Amino acid sequence: MLGIGIDIGGTNTKLVVVNRAGKLLAHERFRTEASKGSGFFIKRLAAVVEGFKRDYGRQLVSIGIGAAGDVDPERGILRFSPNLAWRSVKIAGPLEKLTGLPCVMENDANMAAWGAYELELGRKTADILTLTMGTGIGSGMILAGKLYHGATGSAGEAGHLIIEPDGRPCHCGGRGCLEAYCGSYAIMARARELIKNEAAMVKKFSAPGHEKFNTICLTNAAAAGHAGARRVWAETGHYLGMGLAGLILLLNPGCVVLTGGVSRARKWFLPAMCKILNDQQIKTPFEKVKIKISDSADLGSHGAALFGLEHGLK
Ligand SMILES: [Zn+2]
Repeated sequence: MLGIGIDIGGTNTKLVVVNRAGKLLAHERFRTEASKGSGFFIKRLAAVVEGFKRDYGRQLVSIGIGAAGDVDPERGILRFSPNLAWRSVKIAGPLEKLTGLPCVMENDANMAAWGAYELELGRKTADILTLTMGTGIGSGMILAGKLYHGATGSAGEAGHLIIEPDGRPCHCGGRGCLEAYCGSYAIMARARELIKNEAAMVKKFSAPGHEKFNTICLTNAAAAGHAGARRVWAETGHYLGMGLAGLILLLNPGCVVLTGGVSRARKWFLPAMCKILNDQQIKTPFEKVKIKISDSADLGSHGAALFGLEHGLK
């Protein structure tokens, strides 16, 4: 049995075919081009799935979809996605009709959490919190071995926990959210305020071919001993610790998995994050929790495929 996993992001959409063990057999990627409309997008998805069907035929049994935004998993509707600028878009039902394969849809961070549960932890840890750290901060929870949805499917909006009342502006329209300090856009906004000579930073520390003042440039600067860059990462760790401390007190997870581009700067933000966690007064949940960083860029798409194989078959 093989499953198709789809990861719908603001910029790119990725499709994979994996087996039950999570082994990748095929993959495709195209630009999401949300402005062309959801009907056009779903037809493109179906065309890629048709290609997979030609190669794998009846071995393909399900589709799992992770979408960036607020998802109604019961009805397969993307209720709202700020990155795609879509509201109330039916995706799972139409794709099921076009392809003949059962589809399940979840928020993309939920699918990354399922991917972490199956692939990173081999289902051995039943209670996991996953934070996806990119432009924004997403989260998904596996509790007692099950994906936790909450009453309306919106559980896990940890990026918008307020860690600083009346703090920095967030992409959600609010202020002081975790994402407004630890999303990549927010980290770079703080970096620009502290480090004035952006052009010199880019020249010295950006990766060849990517001459931009971004989190990779800031990580390289920290590695080279740049005091300002190290301070920005330490502050990021402090704020991340503030958010995580509350989540760990609430959920008492066995493992916290951090993934996404920002998590690659682990060396520079983890010490400040762990200091906040170690300073908490209720000791046991913090002594026992494992912190794991996943460098896999595939947790979302592979997790979606495996979740579809587990939950999509009727
Ligand atoms: Zn927010």
